[in-house]
Amino acid sequence: MTGASQKPRAIDHRDPEPATGNDTYIVRTRIPPDIVCPSWCTTGPRQHIGELSAHDGGVVHRGDLRSLGPSSCMTIRPFAASLVDGSVDPDDPGVHLDLTRDGDGPITLDEAMAVAEELAAIVRQLTKSCP
Ligand SMILES: [Zn+2]
Repeated sequence: MTGASQKPRAIDHRDPEPATGNDTYIVRTRIPPDIVCPSWCTTGPRQHIGELSAHDGGVVHRGDLRSLGPSSCMTIRPFAASLVDGSVDPDDPGVHLDLTRDGDGPITLDEAMAVAEELAAIVRQLTKSCP
């Protein structure tokens, strides 16, 4: 995909550079796009639309922040980039997990097992809901 690696540029009638057919353009419009989200996305459409310029016209979907383990020692939030129509972002395909841990002390094996089981359940759920 040759056009995806090029930086998008706004259409400017004064632009002396001829179009090559592989150019990517930024189109400004007053009509908000219909954004297609995966089933697990909890980001609202207003937030998606507000972030379009920060993500070069793409969308970053985020799921709920969930605690893991009996002491909630870890949190997880799924996220994925896509184009506005829900198709895969060729520069960043797949669903990712933002996994953070509270504190820096050790955890017990029982707690680690609980975290692993909950994490596996979340990953299975995400895998089922992703094409
Ligand atoms: Zn979304």
